[in-house]
Amino acid sequence: MSSPDLSDAERQAVASVLNTPILSMGKEIQAFEAAFQELTGWQHAIAVNSGTSGLHLCVRAAGVGINDGQAGDLVLTTPFSFVASTNVILYEQGTPVYVDVDPITGNIDPAMTVQAIQDLTAGGSAARRWLPRWGFKEGAQLKAILPVDVFGQPAEMDPIVQSARQYGLKVIEDSCEALGATYKNRPAGTLGDMGVFAFYPNKQITTGEGGLVVTDDPQAAAYMRALRNQGRAPGDTWLDHTYVGYNYRLDEMSAALGRVQIPRLEQFIAQRQQVVDWYNARLSEIPEIELPVVVPHTTRMSWFVYVIRFRQGIDRDQVARRLHELGIPARPYFVPIHMQPYMVERFGYQEEDYPVTADLGRRSLAIPFSSGMSEAQVDQVCLAIRQILI
Ligand SMILES: *Cc1c(COP(=O)(O)O)cnc(C)c1O
Repeated sequence: MSSPDLSDAERQAVASVLNTPILSMGKEIQAFEAAFQELTGWQHAIAVNSGTSGLHLCVRAAGVGINDGQAGDLVLTTPFSFVASTNVILYEQGTPVYVDVDPITGNIDPAMTVQAIQDLTAGGSAARRWLPRWGFKEGAQLKAILPVDVFGQPAEMDPIVQSARQYGLKVIEDSCEALGATYKNRPAGTLGDMGVFAFYPNKQITTGEGGLVVTDDPQAAAYMRALRNQGRAPGDTWLDHTYVGYNYRLDEMSAALGRVQIPRLEQFIAQRQQVVDWYNARLSEIPEIELPVVVPHTTRMSWFVYVIRFRQGIDRDQVARRLHELGIPARPYFVPIHMQPYMVERFGYQEEDYPVTADLGRRSLAIPFSSGMSEAQVDQVCLAIRQILI
């Protein structure tokens, strides 16, 4: 589906670390974090061992947990995402409360989110219509909002953040798919209170496994830094632990790889845009296909995946199977989170609870995409798709 773009500079940087005795918490992670402070303009950058770990630290920093009445806090989020954005809420006994998505972008619907914030804060019957069939406790309180920048396009954040501020709620931006994107000329990841990036090998830049949190909140930053390192607060020795923490540290080899990838980000984004342009030019002539849309508030898209949608009535799974037979990988993107077996069991969800998400989940297909794809490879994929649809 995708492959990382690695050069000799990356190989050398990793090998250099191996010529030193410092394989963790050394100068590479510091340099990697400093690069993100520069990239985002935010004061604090905390590198971690995965995007999921980063999101989990943010959920802890937002204070999501169980209240005095034994009810898990509510967090508004989207069912059209990778499961990690929901799972991190469950790790803290919180209840993810879904808002359906915008049919154009697949990002959380801003007007519905603002309405949900009002209704859930009011409580009672107004709140009830947003809550799942079961799996939550009366008296649960809304604590945070967790929007996701889906496929590399920032969510419509301004109205959401404005409403969150009004009600004293934290906003965690899952920018794991959107490194380098901008929203109204502001960098993805800096649109809420905390932002998270991820560096799995299919992301715009990679560290192998890895992630990073950015924030401008010094208290949240200090807390997350401590939690990353087994709960050691500033002043704690190696065997002092102020908090229940985790080992979410990013090792030096991974950080070195990432440090060398960062200066190449602009080039990767441009190459990805070129691959998108090639795809768009060829696929726009096929009436059965809808192309991905970049909306005006996205002042720069940072393409993570290239996801097409088939018009109503086309059997998406059949197309995917035929592509596989031709040696071309393709996969549904996303399988809605509310339809994952553990979510159905725990909260009683049905597919049509979130009709836009359900529709996108049925019609969407991610096709091969990476910065290194050639025009000839794009041609081959498009020819295959055309053949199958005839
Ligand atoms: C990639 C991704 C993550 C984090 O993934 P890790 O594999 O834990 O690094 C989180 N959310 C979204 C939406 C993602 O695409």
